[in-house]
Amino acid sequence: MKYERVRNFINGSFKDVSSARTLPVISPVDGTLLAELPCSSAADLEHAVEAAQTAFPAWSRTPIKERVQVFFRYKYLLEKHLKGLAALVSEENGKTFSEAVAEVEKCIELTEFATSLPQLVAGEVLEVSTGVECRTSYVPLGVVASIVPFNFPAMVPNWTIPNAIALGNCMIIKPSEKVPLSLSVIARLLKEAGLPDGVLNIVNGDSEIVDAICDHPDITAISFVGSTRVAKIVYQRSTQQLKRCLALGGAKNHLLVLPDAKPDMTAQNVAASMSGCAGQRCMAASAMIGVGEVDHIVDLVCQEARKIIPGQNLGAVINQESKERIERYITEAEAQGARILVDGRGATVAGKESGTYVGPTVIDYVTADMAVAREEIFGPVISIMRTSTVDEALRIENENPYGNAAAVFTQNGGMARYIAERASAGMIGVNVGVPVPREPFSFGGWNESKFGVGDITGKSSIAFWTKLKKSTTKWNPEEGVNWMS
Ligand code: NAD
Repeated sequence: MKYERVRNFINGSFKDVSSARTLPVISPVDGTLLAELPCSSAADLEHAVEAAQTAFPAWSRTPIKERVQVFFRYKYLLEKHLKGLAALVSEENGKTFSEAVAEVEKCIELTEFATSLPQLVAGEVLEVSTGVECRTSYVPLGVVASIVPFNFPAMVPNWTIPNAIALGNCMIIKPSEKVPLSLSVIARLLKEAGLPDGVLNIVNGDSEIVDAICDHPDITAISFVGSTRVAKIVYQRSTQQLKRCLALGGAKNHLLVLPDAKPDMTAQNVAASMSGCAGQRCMAASAMIGVGEVDHIVDLVCQEARKIIPGQNLGAVINQESKERIERYITEAEAQGARILVDGRGATVAGKESGTYVGPTVIDYVTADMAVAREEIFGPVISIMRTSTVDEALRIENENPYGNAAAVFTQNGGMARYIAERASAGMIGVNVGVPVPREPFSFGGWNESKFGVGDITGKSSIAFWTKLKKSTTKWNPEEGVNWMS
């Protein structure tokens, strides 16, 4: 085993997990057994909650301008350890090193945003009648939890840790059992940056510990990022316990391509969007709808896809189960009459035969009723549908239950606006294949891609991680009275 057994991070130090139940952590790159992950029990969670509760009074009373100093130092440490952390992200997740570098760079941007929070939570004050003032202040919630998926082992934890903690909360975070290693490094960096013990705690495990987090009476709010199936479970279970919950789910992102789109730029965007991080991004293009005559662009998409080589500029998918699921989708579409223009099935990488790779796959003449058109595939696959009108393309996009992102490729500003206004998705791209909003704009989809109010990052996260206090004060209204008289 390459690394030591995974441990929880409780009250500022790494602790063994009591449970005997373990899961293997396997690198998708080449099948190496990286570590053994013990699954935490409710008793382990109890230690984490106690540590967070103990830390909360002092941390929440620390002025925010002092709290964010930790994140200035953490940002510097992320920059210093960028390559090492990126190598670990790549090793445990399977994405390429350059994709992992981009992921850590995004962590730095997220942290930079958190350092600006004092400017954003100054609150308001107004003299509402003579001598009477109302003021607002943002108050932290207490002990909060964050449950994260496998596809961004460093970035998604950094969607929640810097903002929630800078705003004065103490957090328990549960990494994906498939990629628990990067988060341990993040915890070490935060400790080195001066984060007090107990403010951040990691509990490792699978669904059992998620259930315990949802049920724990002393955890006040939960953010979840993962599949829609589990987002619904977590949202329902935690809100039934009267917790605040924001649960981000899966996606099926549509790119609408019009005949006047710039061919090369569009093809490059489509290919990069569907294959980046091996298609394991909730912002990945999964369906392309060609409106009218777009054969010339489809040809170019195929050309671009053929330049994407597993093990070189295309990483692995997370495990054998994922590889088989993705390949099953392709085979089923083929059996239903779709045409596989570029076929990524059966991909292998020399010297990494136990790695789990799927090559880029372009499927044309997909119809809206096929599973590859409707469901999240989460692999480097683009399903191309054809329509003769924009409204028909929008109908397909609108009817899909997800709503994370949608994009349009055209040079016609009026058409771009028409589509952007009518697409039923939280994040829209115009000639942008992966329309992730940059800070301070917030990240979050619509429909079955998100349950709960607000978004998870940027300015919107302030409302989720705090409660607003409204104070009314009557000052001495008499003139000429002061404390020295
Ligand atoms: P997942 O839903 O399987 O797992 C997410 C988390 O939930 C993990 O920590 C896991 O341990 C836990 N979990 C799994 N099954 C559970 C259960 N039955 N009960 C309680 N907890 C459970 O997701 P994943 O496979 O790790 O990640 C991929 C999914 O995440 C994709 O659907 C992707 O679209 C989605 N995702 C969405 C966003 C977004 O912003 N909307 C971002 C990243 C990933």
